[in-house]
Amino acid sequence: MHSPFRNLANLRPLLKGRLPGQLIIQYSNHCNADCPQCGMRRSEQIHRSTLDQQRVKELIDTAAKNGIQSLSFTGGEPLIFLDDVVELTHYAATAGIPYVRTGTNGFMFRDSNSPGYLDRVKSIAEKLAATSIYTFWISIDSAEPDDHEAMRGLKGVIQGIEKAIPIFHEHGIYPSVNLGINRATGGRSRQPYLSEMDEQGFFAAFTDSFEKFYTMAMGLGFTIVNACYPMSDGTGDEHQAATGTIDTALYGAASQDSVINFSRAEKALIFKALFTTIPKFRDKLRIFSPRCALYNLMRKFSGHDSVLFPCRGGVDFFFVECEKGTIHPCGYRTETHRDLPDLNQRLGTISDCDLCEWECFRDPSDVLGPFAEIFTHPIKLAGKMFREPTFFKLLLEDLRYYKACGYFNGRLAPRFNAMQRFARP
Ligand code: SF4
Ligand code: SF4
Repeated sequence: MHSPFRNLANLRPLLKGRLPGQLIIQYSNHCNADCPQCGMRRSEQIHRSTLDQQRVKELIDTAAKNGIQSLSFTGGEPLIFLDDVVELTHYAATAGIPYVRTGTNGFMFRDSNSPGYLDRVKSIAEKLAATSIYTFWISIDSAEPDDHEAMRGLKGVIQGIEKAIPIFHEHGIYPSVNLGINRATGGRSRQPYLSEMDEQGFFAAFTDSFEKFYTMAMGLGFTIVNACYPMSDGTGDEHQAATGTIDTALYGAASQDSVINFSRAEKALIFKALFTTIPKFRDKLRIFSPRCALYNLMRKFSGHDSVLFPCRGGVDFFFVECEKGTIHPCGYRTETHRDLPDLNQRLGTISDCDLCEWECFRDPSDVLGPFAEIFTHPIKLAGKMFREPTFFKLLLEDLRYYKACGYFNGRLAPRFNAMQRFARP
């Protein structure tokens, strides 16, 4: 999540019932990795495309004019096109979009013992540092380096990341590690399945996996961490399979591989495990994942059918796919928007969408949604506060923690003294 709190002007949309707008642009679906959890891995026979720069610039112009404040360039692997992404990041900043993000699978950190390695990393860090990029993420899937590298097909990348992080820090970039939650988060040799153990065992296995992952992230030198909730394509989810709501996500970063497909009961325990693990590390790492949103997901998977705060996909948040540059509500829903709507307009009624758990859209909807309702639906909001006090208590704690984390500004060093207040045994 970005930090619209940093500048009060960025919060103006809340007065109109809107959230600060977010756009995710899938710049390309070319990739050089082999992740089993992803339909864009290099071995997949899919049509590959990359967006036309001019189309992206037009989108950026409209986005800036229409109130988009956060822009992410994703892939495939965006940094195959490093120079393009750098240019577009400049362009977005000039157009007035304050929070621009991109990331990598880390392919450029292989061969870290080769003679030109340090110069190569310095050159990348210099290029990114010359932009106003707010978040630069590196994806890691497992706390076991060998398992991560085998899954991605990127041998030696973890050692390279460890060498690269101090170089990024010297250039004023504090990379964030993105964990794509999967069964091998704690290692491939002990992948938990609820069909093979009881709930307590499954919960303990994931709690242990998250602890191992956060510990590894600190050891590598990361100071910011985010968790990408399972991007299963719905086939492992009884509800979605039964209702046919989502058969295949629009965004290709999904797969039917068992490493990433979870039942509803498993998801409930995974979210609970993450919710339980986060407080143990909040003083040591800047952890994006808001516990109020995880609480909502636990609530969802324990049978509550009412959505507390609707996802803003297709309302304030949008996704652009890389083939034709079409605009969609999110990476899941296939319907198209002819153009990016004007988010400066007051929001009318929106329908609740609860089809997936894509954290890019769900987390900020939960964290900022209540603030938008203060101005548009205060009585409805008061009812929610009365019915769900735990959510609001967690939200307040998340907001205090976000402030201590400098709103996850990836251009600033962590303030461990401010985060110390969140230390837990
Ligand atoms: S998850 Fe990312 S790095 Fe892995 S195959 Fe998919 S696009 Fe490539
Ligand atoms: S809940 Fe999922 S499917 Fe629905 S709008 Fe949000 S991101 Fe899209």
